[in-house]
Amino acid sequence: MLDYAEPVTKLIDEFKRLPSIGQKSAQRLAFHILRSTEADVERLIAALHEVKERITECSVCNNLTDVNPCGFCASPTRDRSMMCVIEQPYDLLAVEKTRSYKGLYHVLHGALSPIRGIRPHDLRLENLLLRLKPENNEGVEIREVIVATNPNTEGEATANYISRLLKPLGVRVTRLAMGMPVGSDLEYVDEVTMDKALSNRHDM
Ligand SMILES: [Zn+2]
Repeated sequence: MLDYAEPVTKLIDEFKRLPSIGQKSAQRLAFHILRSTEADVERLIAALHEVKERITECSVCNNLTDVNPCGFCASPTRDRSMMCVIEQPYDLLAVEKTRSYKGLYHVLHGALSPIRGIRPHDLRLENLLLRLKPENNEGVEIREVIVATNPNTEGEATANYISRLLKPLGVRVTRLAMGMPVGSDLEYVDEVTMDKALSNRHDM
């Protein structure tokens, strides 16, 4: 079997570690890099370094940010009595682009999955409970938590877990209505579908 030179193989292997990248995509990316100019490669390296250096998790909502607390948590115009719980930071943009939600967010950084060994303590749930106390939310009581986890098995399991966790505390827990394609991810949902799903959310 014909092998690439060692540095090329190494680069292909690194690309293969990225999500959704298989052997063929990794090869294509590696050869794209090989054909790129030195300046292009330097820019890519600098961008990678910059996100690692400047981006952290917001200490309040766990969103990825370059200022702490993040812009949503620090904003004086957001409705602090509403909180939307999402799996990943990019899901925030999916909700935000509807422009119909003005509350706060809470990013879990994952979803429960017995198969992949992801349990409740692997999610950012501890500070979610803390945020429900008005003293930790600028004196505002959270009236409603919208659980906007993905409409798939793992997202549903996570939503049910959160509902069981929060309901005894007397907070209204709602779930995004279906109408979104089942089995897909929030990040791929268009604005109209997301808007419908938000306005048709239901109690859990
Ligand atoms: Zn935040």
